[in-house]
Amino acid sequence: MGMRRKLVSGNWKMNGSLATLAELDGIAAAAAAAPNIDVSIAVPFTLIHPAALRVPGLAIGAEDVHDEDAGAHTGCVSAGMVREAGAVFTIAGHSERRADQGENSHDAWAKAAAARRNGLSVILCCGETEAERNAGRAERIVQAQIEKSVPENATADWLTLAYEPRWAIGTGRTPTLDEIAAIHAIAREKLRMMIGDCAADVRILYGGSVVGENAAAILSTENVDGALVGGASLTAAKFVPVIEAAA
Ligand code: PGA
Repeated sequence: MGMRRKLVSGNWKMNGSLATLAELDGIAAAAAAAPNIDVSIAVPFTLIHPAALRVPGLAIGAEDVHDEDAGAHTGCVSAGMVREAGAVFTIAGHSERRADQGENSHDAWAKAAAARRNGLSVILCCGETEAERNAGRAERIVQAQIEKSVPENATADWLTLAYEPRWAIGTGRTPTLDEIAAIHAIAREKLRMMIGDCAADVRILYGGSVVGENAAAILSTENVDGALVGGASLTAAKFVPVIEAAA
């Protein structure tokens, strides 16, 4: 049985500005007051460097990276670039990338591999749509996404998985705790089949409408090792209660 430290990570998506980086001060203070958990936050590319300079104690990440290290890809940003800017991790395979940019699990695999190659850790996302859940296919969808997106020989020191049912993202709706536990158990078993005993140490986050009020219950669910938090990570007032619930 792995000893997994909880990880609470924010994801600002296409939000924030130099002015709202001030929110990171309170978030960093809450993180420093919770030494038994890890706290990180993914921000837009343009905010990575100023965020990393402002709060050196907080792990700053990217929301996406290109799968190649350099080249003729106008408008894209590589893992090495975000690392140089001060990022220590990236998200890969977020459902909004899948929906808006047509990315699939193979793309997420390639991005995760690029991140690892460049010294970043990765929060790799999976999760079913509402139609897939209603059709009873949530478990199979998540298994297939993990199968296709987790790189070979992945280890817990750089890989974190995030289960984010698409219908729960930004909607205020969440699965029941039993439903979350069922998917997380299946995700861990799938990881075990792929990477063996290392799977016991890989953190599996839940994401989708996590807020201060529901965080404690979700975070105490079996095999839930933390949370990936969108809307409630945008301000210290909303994010600090999630951090405190995990601590
Ligand atoms: P949400 O987003 O917390 O706003 O639902 C979660 C995510 O997309 O990571």
